[in-house]
Order: sequence, then C-alpha cells, then structure tokens
Amino acid sequence: MPLKFNLFNKHPEIVYGITEQADGSMGYTTPGYSKPEHFNNRKVYFRKQGINSDQVFFPNMEHGNIIVVINKQNELKSQPVADGVVTKLTGVVLAITSADCFSVYAYDPVQKVIGLAHAGWKGVVGGVVPNLIKTLTIYCQSLKKDILVGIGPGIGKCHFEIKPETLPHYLAYSECIEQKGEKIFIDLEGIIVQQLLFAGIKKENIGLSKQCTFCLDKIYFSNRRDKPKLLETMISFIMLKNVNGG
Ligand SMILES: [Zn+2]
Repeated sequence: MPLKFNLFNKHPEIVYGITEQADGSMGYTTPGYSKPEHFNNRKVYFRKQGINSDQVFFPNMEHGNIIVVINKQNELKSQPVADGVVTKLTGVVLAITSADCFSVYAYDPVQKVIGLAHAGWKGVVGGVVPNLIKTLTIYCQSLKKDILVGIGPGIGKCHFEIKPETLPHYLAYSECIEQKGEKIFIDLEGIIVQQLLFAGIKKENIGLSKQCTFCLDKIYFSNRRDKPKLLETMISFIMLKNVNGG
C-alpha cells in the first residue's frame, strides 16, 4: 500500500513514502539508541528504493517544534535536536521515525524545496507544523500559495483517546474534540489541517492519507495498539531528485 498524495502526482521530481511492518522496525532517532538490526532494515529498505543510506538525514527528535535547515552535504552527519527538516539539496533524503505520530510532507515546486515534520500530539499543540511552514517562507523564500502539504498515516480520531487532564491543550480546536460517553477522542489530523489553513496554505494544496496506524494492523506499527516493550517504528521520508540523474 504505497503512500500516495494526488497533489504530488504532477511532481515526479520528488520521492516520498513510509515504511511498513513488512520492512521491519526502523529504530529511533536519538543517537545511540538504535540497534544493528534497525540500521540494517533502513539500509535494505533504502537500497530497494535506489537510495544510498549515507544520503539520509534523521534529526534527533524529541516531540518539540524546532525545524532545522540542511544547507550543506556535510550537515547530514550532524544530529541536531529537531522535529522537522527543510532542504533545497537534491539527492538528500529527509527522514523521521514514527509509530502513531503523523508525518507531514511539504514541497514547494517553485523554490524547489522540501520539508518533513514529525507531528505527534505534543509537536502538534507545540506548533511544529506552523513552524515548518514558517521555515519554508522565511528561510527558503517559499510563497504560501505554492506550498503543497501531504499529511501521512498517524493515529486517527477513531483511536486517539486522551486523558481528561490533557484536554486543555486542545481547547483552541473544539471541532477536533469528540466526546463519546466518558471518553474523549482527538482528531490530530484535523488540528494539523486547521493549523495549515491558518498558516495560509490553500485548502486544495493539502492532501490527506486518511490512514490510521492503529486501524491498519497488518500494515503499520502502532505504539498505542501494540504496546511493545521496545518501540517499533516506521520511517517517513522525502527527497528531491537530482535532475541530472543522481
Ligand atoms: Zn483508528
């Protein structure tokens, strides 16, 4: 079930996707925490995509709202704390790992710049998605009207139940809160869409995967569903191809 956003169809110059259970767990972005089998799974997966693992950049994610800009090849080996990345470099793969959190893919075909954010509930309420858009407009000269955004698989409203004490974080998004009896569910994808619209992204430039990681139990890992001892993760990635064939 390859991930496909219709709004990216016109742009064969970008490559993007998300791994599945069948590809194995992809480990963690915190330096030193991944195991050899995770690195091997990454290598095998990227090789299948025709991608050299040395060209893949993972930020050191911490459910925050910091976005980094990668300007030079030699920055690929740095591991800055960030939950989003932006680059104009071709042939460089921006990647995050997740297991219920949303991946937000961005592309501006005019400035030829790509971005990727890791958006779990903390990142979402902390503003990682608006910060991704700000980074594109301020540092990469993107115009809001040109930015295309795809929201990848993540935990849907069907399964994202919250504890009442975290409800205050969501009160600004009342239409994304659903109460069913005693239970409270949150539509994180809906909140991301609202934030994108508020940030000036056109509605027709926002694509949704509409895939709940918890529901799709044969395809994706879900931390909420599986409660594994050791977190099992997928990689989401995006790359701008080198048009000269690299
Ligand atoms: Zn679900």
